[in-house]
Amino acid sequence: MSAYQIIDHSYDVVVVGAGGAGLRATLGMGAAGLKTACVTKVFPTRSHTVAAQGGIGASLGNMAEDNWRWHMYDTVKGSDWLGDQDAIEYMCREAVPAVYELEHFGVPFSRTEDGRIYQRPFGGHMRNFGEAPVQRACAAADRTGHAILHTLYQQCLKHEATFFVEYFAIDLIMDPDGTCRGVVALNLDDGTLHRFRAHQTVLATGGYGRAYFSCTSAHTCTGDGHGLVTRAGLPLQDMEFVQFHPTGIYGSGCLITEGARGEGGYLTNSAGERFMERYAPNAKDLASRDVVSRAMTIEIREGRGVGKNSDHIHLHLEHLGAETLELRLPGISETAKIFAGVDVTREPIPVLPTVHYNMGGIPTNLQGEVLRPTAGEPDAVCPGLMAIGEAACVSVHGANRLGTNSLLDIVVFGRAAALRAAEVVKPGTPHRPLPKDAGDLAVSRLDRLRNASGGLTTQAIRLGMQQTMQRDAAVFRTQSSLAEGVSKIGEIYQSLADIKVTDRSLIWNSDLIEAFELENLLDCAKATITSAEARQESRGAHAREDFPDRDDVTWMKHSLAWVDETGKVTLGYRPVHTYTLTDEVEYIVPKARVY
Ligand code: FAD
Repeated sequence: MSAYQIIDHSYDVVVVGAGGAGLRATLGMGAAGLKTACVTKVFPTRSHTVAAQGGIGASLGNMAEDNWRWHMYDTVKGSDWLGDQDAIEYMCREAVPAVYELEHFGVPFSRTEDGRIYQRPFGGHMRNFGEAPVQRACAAADRTGHAILHTLYQQCLKHEATFFVEYFAIDLIMDPDGTCRGVVALNLDDGTLHRFRAHQTVLATGGYGRAYFSCTSAHTCTGDGHGLVTRAGLPLQDMEFVQFHPTGIYGSGCLITEGARGEGGYLTNSAGERFMERYAPNAKDLASRDVVSRAMTIEIREGRGVGKNSDHIHLHLEHLGAETLELRLPGISETAKIFAGVDVTREPIPVLPTVHYNMGGIPTNLQGEVLRPTAGEPDAVCPGLMAIGEAACVSVHGANRLGTNSLLDIVVFGRAAALRAAEVVKPGTPHRPLPKDAGDLAVSRLDRLRNASGGLTTQAIRLGMQQTMQRDAAVFRTQSSLAEGVSKIGEIYQSLADIKVTDRSLIWNSDLIEAFELENLLDCAKATITSAEARQESRGAHAREDFPDRDDVTWMKHSLAWVDETGKVTLGYRPVHTYTLTDEVEYIVPKARVY
């Protein structure tokens, strides 16, 4: 395929990404006897899942009565009725066995006095169809993601999956008939190119928080899987729904888990008022994230913010006492000390809504197969390609994700993808020859960026994108902010033609890798802001000041965005699944969403 040194591999399945989703799929595929490769740009246990703090949702009922049907109801309501109810039913029902499976794998959950898994309250999780908060978040102190990720990695090693660590996936290998045949990756350590052939390629590459200036996500969250998919001519779904977490530390963006409010923490404004009582009289500080973030933004806008510029809010934990803080929230106590200089046993933490999670992503069915929707067949699949985790949009989170439902999503759908792969791939099935130009797309991308000698650094283009997204696709949006954002992001996209990569080396070239990541981020940014401008209603995390109400007649549909190689976005829509998976539950009819 070119002058580069190319090494070919053949696997039954290749998983791109070693976060919670990728590792759960990898171990399931390995256990099913499939020859499995896992390709990851960072060491598995450094994947972003390691940062997850508060817990994983499951109606175990260890602290008080609970029921997966209540969990399903809360998730549908949290999604503002954009989530697909068949997928939500599957996830909430599977949550209980999924958590026990994690326990048996060895996850060191915190314990109750009588030795059961400890569960804490979390925003939007209620008992008896919305009555009052319930303790549903299964926690390993405030380091739940760390505990899960390390355990899954150990299980993968047991099942003999082969890891390709610090390999950067550049592009998919697609047949002319649209079947995915594998992926091309660059070994960052020696500059060799690797062509992975597989009967199923699974994208588990995480979210794209870094399209924004201030976010809680790691620097690695650059929407690489999203970019691979758009360049293969496939759409992204529901990209306008970006979650702002209420409690990012003011100034640094580091997360203070919602578990802090679950343990009894609360927010106050400059008058010392617990203002959430006015916005969500029932759930108060434990209302859904979009509701709390909007309330905080209104308080600040109306002059009731704290600090010398009245531009943030206080989160109080002092009253919980040093012992509880040490036992339940040791990680965030340390984070607050380092990033805000605050001793949480004595003073409040300064916080601000911060970009945290992407509800949108690569559309899939509930077995993890990537969709290639057409007008006649909205649920048609792209053969050979799967997506899971934050990179995917199943859709279980709809317009707003509930806390704890992402760790749940990654293990439930990681497992579902493994089960599906075991069904459709027979171990050792020979591979058809690859098309002549297999991998050319990746090589030409590598050539182009490696030799880019324009006038703009990657960092300068990225900063422009991040600032524009932060300003124009924020907690509250208007036609004028979004139109300005669409135009600005369009200009920034065009400026990619003038990018400069100074280091020509193939080995440990962060300049080159950041340029690859920037192209992926810009695809995500374009899809996000264009879909947001088009959606003329307010639903979940998408709050339009000019269209303050939810409009189920016109807008209860998933948006699709195809981004072509010139940056042009074409929008389409597919119906929300307004049916359940089984007859054991009824479709939850849309109604006003109050907490
Ligand atoms: P990630 O863990 O981000 O993994 C992505 C993987 O893809 C990595 O291994 C990376 O190396 C690989 N990759 C990416 N691009 C490439 C490429 N080009 N080539 C090769 N490999 C690539 N959710 C909850 O439910 N409960 C919580 O308590 C919670 N707390 C959170 C706290 C914080 C601070 C944050 C930011 C999020 C939290 N979340 C929580 C959300 C949750 O952690 C994430 O949504 C979830 O962990 C994502 O997992 P993932 O496997 O999809 O992706």
